[in-house]
Amino acid sequence: MPHPLIALVLSMTSTLGAAPSPELTVRYEPAGSPRAEQARKLLKESDALKTGIKLPRPVKVVARDCDEASATWDGDERRITICYSLVDKVRRTLTGISQTEEADKRTTAARVDAALTVLFHHQLGHALGAMNGRPDSEGQADQLAALTLAADAPKRVVRAAEARHLLAGHAGIGHLSGLEASATFACLLYGADPAKHAGIAKGGWVPAERAPFCAGEYNRAKSALGTMVVKAGA
Ligand SMILES: [Zn+2]
Repeated sequence: MPHPLIALVLSMTSTLGAAPSPELTVRYEPAGSPRAEQARKLLKESDALKTGIKLPRPVKVVARDCDEASATWDGDERRITICYSLVDKVRRTLTGISQTEEADKRTTAARVDAALTVLFHHQLGHALGAMNGRPDSEGQADQLAALTLAADAPKRVVRAAEARHLLAGHAGIGHLSGLEASATFACLLYGADPAKHAGIAKGGWVPAERAPFCAGEYNRAKSALGTMVVKAGA
């Protein structure tokens, strides 16, 4: 019999649809400036810091003000930190791009939400790799991020590839900068379901000549790392 309070929390979370993973706790620290407060609200309302992926050990996610615009995984504390200044940078960068493209507000908002989701899943990838005793690498974190994203937020997958592509040419966006890493990430997401995620190839976020090989790339990532990516309750 669970403790009455835990039972209450469990019954409350189960009404929210996709129940958050019980091992993940998310805390939003107070923001110290109007701009950080805007980022805090944006991050909270984006639902980006959610996962239904089973974690081998409890993980804390802390959103807060920091000196640097960063997102990090701390293995000793088992803590993912997302800085409001990085959230703000993502928002400003994507808003700027959307204005240049004359994209509407809805598109811009969807891109920002998707980018924040990628930001979190990339750190979750670092966390999963480390907690499973794997040597850490950016490539592995991205592979795990693609697997968790496809499992967790299938409706955000196409936007996620787009947002990462748009950010790829901008320096200092956490670990999301870089065209090559962005193309590989897009390829994995496209390869997860080439029919459903056709928009990724159409958008050109994965190079056309690479697209036919993406299902293979995804399947290789899944065989290598898929045992770490299990939905809670599955
Ligand atoms: Zn990274």
